[in-house]
Amino acid sequence: MDISVIVPLYNEEESLPELFDWIERVMKENGFTYEVIFVNDGSTDNSWQVIEKIRERSSAVRGIKFRRNYGKSAALYCGFKEAEGDVVITMDADLQDSPDEIPELYRMIREEGYDMVSGWKRKRYDPITKTLPTKLFNATARQVSGIKNLHDFNCGLKSYDKNVVKNIEVYGEMHRYIPYLAKNAGFKKIGEKPVHHQARKYGKTKFGINRFVNGYLDLITLWFLSRFGIKPMHFFGLLGSLMFLIGLIAVVIIGVGKLYSMHQGMEYRLVTDSPYFYLSLTAMIIGTQLFVAGFLGELISRNALGRNDYQIEKTI
Ligand code: UDP
Ligand code: MG
Repeated sequence: MDISVIVPLYNEEESLPELFDWIERVMKENGFTYEVIFVNDGSTDNSWQVIEKIRERSSAVRGIKFRRNYGKSAALYCGFKEAEGDVVITMDADLQDSPDEIPELYRMIREEGYDMVSGWKRKRYDPITKTLPTKLFNATARQVSGIKNLHDFNCGLKSYDKNVVKNIEVYGEMHRYIPYLAKNAGFKKIGEKPVHHQARKYGKTKFGINRFVNGYLDLITLWFLSRFGIKPMHFFGLLGSLMFLIGLIAVVIIGVGKLYSMHQGMEYRLVTDSPYFYLSLTAMIIGTQLFVAGFLGELISRNALGRNDYQIEKTI
């Protein structure tokens, strides 16, 4: 099979028939063999009935129905697991992404050898309250992930070589950073294609302003995991040692200063009268705690299931 199209959806009943007709038309015009996997993320409207209807018409349609709403990442995860096509394409259900982009996205993977290609909504039809923070968000993501050539990390329209989706694990709200996940899994050729974007035709957006707060936190998490995920002591140990050392040096200076003054018969202050004493005390306590956190982290990662999951490309 050439292409699996994965469509995560939450309450998108109005868009689905139109979306499927469009995908079907594009596939037929280009002679692709394909499947469309609709992942119904606990919709409370009639989305599932609509999917069942579409399936009666076409055997290329598959559906997964969650019992409750888990989020877009969960939907993508399950879609990725089921996908059978050589190239996997993800697309939002709200008709903001255009199925006309599919042939080119497919070609870039098959012929130009990209591991994944991300859409770039160069001209967006979203409110300014979304486009502006998105620019900032993408700039940060570029810096942190080191994938400098991407303008639009979170575009719903993306294509992947099958190997990529079978070897990454999207969870939580990490769908925003799939290129980063792919990079961390060793897939280097990550490209971008400007795509057409349209205003939402039916329904409304499912993500509020907290997407940016959560997005930043997730980015920090990913950065931390990719650097120190299996060796947390390298992070906590370093910070802890530094803190402890600063505290120790400070306390030694205070103590030696006092002893020296006593020895010279000069006037001297109690150690506890110096503000530096309390600062160094705090530094030493926090340093020790960080160190302990490092040890705990090591204990956890020693037992983690994924600690020896390596990406083996080939063996002969
Ligand atoms: N979506 C989903 N589960 C959720 C929220 C959203 O499957 O919990 C789907 C939604 O139906 C749509 C896609 O994810 O197909 C993108 O969502 P939306 O269009 O609301 O995001 P935006 O375009 O505003 O970034
Ligand atoms: Mg949308």
